[in-house]
Amino acid sequence: MKQIRQWGRFLLFHKRPKNVASLLRESLSKEMLDEPLLLDHVKIEDYLMVALEIRPCSLLTIPAEFHNGTELGRRIDELCAEDLQAVLRATTDKKGALIRRLKKKIREALKRVVFTSATYEAHMNWSRKLDLRTFDVEVRPSIHELYLFKDSKIKSELRSLMRIRTATRERVRLRMDASKRRTRLAFAEESSPEYLVSVGKLLGYPSCCVERYVHERLNEGASVEARASGQVEQSRKDGEEPDVYAYFVRNFFPCRPTCENASEIGRKTFDLLSSLDPKLGGLYGRCMTNNVEMVEECPGLTKRYRAKLTKKAQRLTRTQSDDQNNFKRYASINWDC
Ligand SMILES: [Zn+2]
Repeated sequence: MKQIRQWGRFLLFHKRPKNVASLLRESLSKEMLDEPLLLDHVKIEDYLMVALEIRPCSLLTIPAEFHNGTELGRRIDELCAEDLQAVLRATTDKKGALIRRLKKKIREALKRVVFTSATYEAHMNWSRKLDLRTFDVEVRPSIHELYLFKDSKIKSELRSLMRIRTATRERVRLRMDASKRRTRLAFAEESSPEYLVSVGKLLGYPSCCVERYVHERLNEGASVEARASGQVEQSRKDGEEPDVYAYFVRNFFPCRPTCENASEIGRKTFDLLSSLDPKLGGLYGRCMTNNVEMVEECPGLTKRYRAKLTKKAQRLTRTQSDDQNNFKRYASINWDC
């Protein structure tokens, strides 16, 4: 009994921390809207949608999805230029050792340039303010993925997801001949239904959209991007604008432009953000419009990008693209060495 009374007193004096919605209603939404170091879609889709428990987890690519990602990438390039040239000039028997040295140099440069930057610090600060956990994964020495989530159980799910990715890459690597390896390895995990279903669930995609995506990815002749873009084009031809709410986060392809399950998520998010601060709602509306445009343009972008990657991989020269792509730098290097 005495213990219960003590607990009661403890709870009286230690109020539960305010929830994210209350904080946003007060002054946090203005602070976030004014934050210059986070991109708009990152603020809404990666931070707020997870903090408000609309999606279990989000993912952003570092440094590509930083507002100054291109500049940070250039600085890494400068620090590693000599080592890269050495790899490009080397004879086949020396290449392996030089590539390992280059990888080490890129990792050090990334640490120095990206992980000490004000932009990275701002991202970490916002994770703390919104009570989010982070999980960092190196995809390549120059590219990291930062996962954001609230529930601590997600971490073990992410770990098992990474194990599936590594195993799939290894399986694809062993199956392929060396000429195709460099380009196909960048997309290897897309051949694993287990990986695609798990990542779709973690990122909060509706199961109907995930199912269609997996079916098309595993069918050699089908293109998710072409189908999704064609659907938007057809809707417009039919005199109907696509339902923007169905495009509730970037890099997501709804099974149909009017998918009710996807649309429900977008509408729920828009209504909630608008009720917390109409400016947040407005910003999310613009993000969703951009998402539709990205899906519409996607086949062109993907085709151009894949062609570029293949060409560069064959020539073993580095990619100069400034677009926000996962594989833009050092794409030509065979990192298996
Ligand atoms: Zn769907």
